[in-house]
Amino acid sequence: MTLTEPEPRTAVATHCPYCALQCGMSLTAGEGAEVEVAPRQFPTNAGGLCQKGWTSGSLLTSPARLTTPLIRLDGELRPASWDAALGLIAGKLAEIQARHGKDAVAVFGGGGLTNEKSYLLGKFARVALGTSQVDYNGRFCMSSAAAAGNRAFGLDRGLPFPLTDLADADVVLLVGANPAETMPPLVKHLERAKSLGGLIVADPRRTPTAEQANLHLTPSPGKDLALALGILHALVAESGVDQPYMDERTRGFSAVWRIASRWWPERAERVTGVSAADQRTVAAKLANARNAYILTARGAEQHATGADTVSAWINLALALGLPGKPGSGFGCLTGQGNGQGGREHGQKADQLPGYRKIDDPAAREHVARVWGVDPAEIPGPGRSAYELLDALGTADGPRALLVFGSNPVVSAPHSAHIADRLSTVEFLGCADLVLSETSALADVVLPVTQWAEEDGTMTNLEGRVLLRKRALDPPPGVRTDLDVLAGLATRLGQPAERFPTDAETVFDELRAASKGGLADYSGISYDRLRAGEALYWPVPEATHPGTPRMFLDRFAHPDGKARFVPVEHSGPAEPPDTEFPLQATTGRVLQHYQSGAQTRLVDELTEAVPEAFVEVHPDTAARAGLADGDWARIASRRGETVARVRCVPSMGIDLVFLPFHFPGAQRANLFTNPALDPTSRMPEFKVCAVKLSIVDGA
Ligand code: SF4
Repeated sequence: MTLTEPEPRTAVATHCPYCALQCGMSLTAGEGAEVEVAPRQFPTNAGGLCQKGWTSGSLLTSPARLTTPLIRLDGELRPASWDAALGLIAGKLAEIQARHGKDAVAVFGGGGLTNEKSYLLGKFARVALGTSQVDYNGRFCMSSAAAAGNRAFGLDRGLPFPLTDLADADVVLLVGANPAETMPPLVKHLERAKSLGGLIVADPRRTPTAEQANLHLTPSPGKDLALALGILHALVAESGVDQPYMDERTRGFSAVWRIASRWWPERAERVTGVSAADQRTVAAKLANARNAYILTARGAEQHATGADTVSAWINLALALGLPGKPGSGFGCLTGQGNGQGGREHGQKADQLPGYRKIDDPAAREHVARVWGVDPAEIPGPGRSAYELLDALGTADGPRALLVFGSNPVVSAPHSAHIADRLSTVEFLGCADLVLSETSALADVVLPVTQWAEEDGTMTNLEGRVLLRKRALDPPPGVRTDLDVLAGLATRLGQPAERFPTDAETVFDELRAASKGGLADYSGISYDRLRAGEALYWPVPEATHPGTPRMFLDRFAHPDGKARFVPVEHSGPAEPPDTEFPLQATTGRVLQHYQSGAQTRLVDELTEAVPEAFVEVHPDTAARAGLADGDWARIASRRGETVARVRCVPSMGIDLVFLPFHFPGAQRANLFTNPALDPTSRMPEFKVCAVKLSIVDGA
C-alpha cells in the first residue's frame, strides 16, 4: 500500500474512522504494509486517542478485507467481476420491482457513511429505485434525541455548542452516558466540573465514567424520566428555576408542571431508587452553578419512551435556563462517526436533504429541482429501520434489500428474527469492507473502500463538518460506495451525470439540496474545509462564518421560543416478573465499536476483549449456580445468548449488563426488545426482562 498524495512517508492529517468525536489523527504509510497512526491536536480530542483509534491503521491492511465482488452460486459466495455483480443486482431489482412494485426494493444505510454517501444513497433510493423504503441504523442510535430536540428547539443538532465549552462548566450532568469508555478523550473536557465537585452521572451501572463522578445516581433502567421529574419538582420547590428566562424564551411550562408537581422527590425515589436527598442535591447544584450542562446519551434514549425521556431532561434544562445561554446548555452525545450528518441528508425514511421533511411540499419541490425530477416522482415516507427489517419478505413488505455500511444481523433488536426475515427476501445485496454477519448472507457482496482510502465529509457530534482526505490507495479491485451507487443507477436507466462519483461534486450538489433547510450546508465548500475553517452548520452563505453556538438569540420554532413538552413516566415496556426476574441492559466497551465487524478484526482489541461477557452481582450469579468465568445463558421471551460471567459487586442484584459487539450465539441483541418509541421509532435496546442460568455442559 502506498501514499498517493502527498509523497510517501508524509503524514496525512485525517480523523478516526469510528465514533462521533472524530478525533484528529495522522496517517503515515510504513515501509511495509503497515500504516502508522499518531494522534493529532484537534479540539475534540486535544491530542488524545482511545485504543480503537490507535489501532485503526490495521483495518486498512487487514487480510479480511474484501477485494473482489462475490456472487452466490450453488449456495457459495464466489469471486466475480464488477460488471457481472452490478449487472446482476440491477437486473434482480428491476425484475422484482416489475413484479411487485417500486416499494418491493428497500435500502438500508448507516450512520458511519460520509455525508456524500448518505446523500447519494437517499437520492438513489428515491430517484433510481423510486422506493419509499429507505432507512438506516442511525434510527437505532440518535432518533429519540433528534425527535426531542426537534420538538423542544425546532431543530436537532446533538451538541448545539463546541465540545470545548464543557471545559468551563461548574456542573455537568451526564444521563445514560459513559464517555470514559465510549469516547475517552472527551473526559478531558469534564475536568473542571469534576474538580469543583460538579460532575454528576446518572447510570444504573457503576461505569468507568460513574467511577470518576462526584455524585453517581443509580436509577433503575427505564426510569430516567421519573428521575428528571423528581429533580424538576425539587428545583421548583427550592425556587431554583430561571423565571425571567422561562418568561422570555420558552412556552408551555404550566402543562409540564401539572405533571411534575405530582412527582415530589420521595415519590421519584420509590420509582427510580435514587434518594430524594440526592435529587435535591442535583437540583441545588444545577441551580447554583454559574455554567452548567445537561447531556444525555443512549442510556436515556434507547427506550420505547426515549423521546419523552429526553424531553423530560430538556424540560429540566429549560427550567434552569441553560439552552441558548453562553457557557451553559443541553445536548445529546452522538455515537456513530457520522451520526449527525447521517441523519440530515436523506437516508432516513421521512426525510430529504438539509433536514427537510419528505411530506413538506415546498421541501419536495426544492429537492426535486436540484435532482432534475418532478416532485411527484419522489416517494413519500417509508418504514422506520426496525419496521422495514421486520417487514422483509412479508406479503406487503420489501422483497429485496440493499445494505450499505450496516450489520443488522448483529445490531438490530431481536436479531435472530431479523436474520430470519433477511433469509426470506428474494435478493440481498451488500456493500461492505469485510464479510460481516449480514453480508455473509447476501446474494451479492461488493467490496468498498474505507475511510482513509476516499475523500468525504463527516459531521461530528458538535455539528462541525470535517473533511477526511484520501490518504492511501485502496487495495486493487475495491471501489467507493459512490462508484457502486453510480454503477447501479446507470444500469437502472439513470443518466450518469445524475450520480457523480467524485465526492466533492456530490458535496456541491448536497450544498444546493440543503440550501434553505435547517441543516444548511450551502456555504460550506471543500476549499473552505481544506483551508482549515471550523464550520459548524448552518452555514447559509459562502461568506458565513458558521454557527458554533446555536439558539443564543432565538430557537428554531417560528416564534423563536423553546417548547416545554409535557411527558409522563410509564417505565419499561417489559417489566421483570417471576419467569424473567432480572433486567438486562446493553452497551459498549472501550475496545469495540458497534456490531464489532471492524474492531473484531484488530488483534489488540480482540485480545483485550475477545468474547461476550455478562456483568452480574456475585449474589445473583451464585443464586443461578454461576461463578466468575462461567458461561451463562441469558434468556428473554425472544431468545437467549451466552456470555462469560463477570461478577461485579457494584451491580444491582436485579440487573445484568452485556456488550452488544459479538456475533453468533453471543449476540446480546438475541434477547433485546423491539418495542418502539411511538415518535422516534427507537427500539427499547436498554432494558428488558431476562433470566440467568448455567450453560448446560459448561
Ligand atoms: Fe476518538 Fe472515538 Fe476514535 Fe476513540 S473511537 S479515537 S474516541 S474518534
